[in-house]
Amino acid sequence: MAIEFWTFRSTAPFVNPLKNWELDEQVLEFRKDPLLGHVSIFSPAIQGKKDILFPAPDPAYVQSIADATKPNCFLCDGKWERMTPKYPDDLIPGGRLVKGQTVLFPNLFPTASYHAVIMLGESHYRSLDNFPEDLLKDAFGLSVDFLGRVFKKNSEMLYATINANYLPPAGSSVFHPHVQILISPVPSTHHERVLEASRRYYDQNGRSYWKDLVDVERSKGERYVANFGGSHWLMAFSPIGANEVLGVFPEKGNILRWGEDDITALARGVSLSLKFYHSLGFSTFNFSLFSSPLGDDSPCYGAFIRLVCRQNFVPHYRTDDYYLQKLMENEIISTPPEELAKVFRGMVG
Ligand SMILES: [Zn+2]
Repeated sequence: MAIEFWTFRSTAPFVNPLKNWELDEQVLEFRKDPLLGHVSIFSPAIQGKKDILFPAPDPAYVQSIADATKPNCFLCDGKWERMTPKYPDDLIPGGRLVKGQTVLFPNLFPTASYHAVIMLGESHYRSLDNFPEDLLKDAFGLSVDFLGRVFKKNSEMLYATINANYLPPAGSSVFHPHVQILISPVPSTHHERVLEASRRYYDQNGRSYWKDLVDVERSKGERYVANFGGSHWLMAFSPIGANEVLGVFPEKGNILRWGEDDITALARGVSLSLKFYHSLGFSTFNFSLFSSPLGDDSPCYGAFIRLVCRQNFVPHYRTDDYYLQKLMENEIISTPPEELAKVFRGMVG
């Protein structure tokens, strides 16, 4: 097995006023992601002190901002029909895709060649325990439908992702829950690094990294949470953000090959992950699902989604993304993934 879960222990010595000015030697555990090598740092001294880094959610404050932004929301009360842009009829007859309470339309300020937004239901605000599987299934169904239409029209559009920013600390400028689909001829930095590393792993080992990862995590069990259909859900060994959940589709890298079962599996995993975050005392998130290059069925790739928590939306909130994350590409682990997996497994049942 070529996958290595690399760790290194070190100590941080200092004279601690909280311990009678005695010499304190706090233990640190460094970890590296087995595919890309990004570093995370676990400090047992931080464990159990979540509120130092992530103050508790403030539902009354969030509700007050929800109430203040609703009257001018361009999605609420059917206003999307008058106010959202449309795609040309030769891509989508009528300009938009609608399924249940979800609507897909173009982003007015795209950052990808095709950058669609999906309104995620009619409610202007949802807590993280209220992103139902059926609603997400409709949104992900529209996403796959849209990606297929774009790729059929232009086969240069190889690099597809499905993403979300929820609430301002996660980068959202629109309060109303929504999802964003990006497709371009140029992959994101992270996407390209993953594709290259997956190909290298396959060339060196003759096996898919994603299949090996699922096999080893499932047999070890300490970070593995559940499988739904062809997807496997686990806590990332070296997270790239707070409480990273990793959902892997090792046999279905190319999202254009997905059937209804795969879309259901994704919706179930995302809905449960958000409920799990709610139970941990978090209220905002980002996720990105990365497909293999569209139309590429090479066995070296798998599709995967990363979900992370972001800072809670409280007055004068402090970002959780400072030099350590943004410039060094490190993350802090305040609860070990192995302990989070136990809690998450308990919820999934
Ligand atoms: Zn709204």
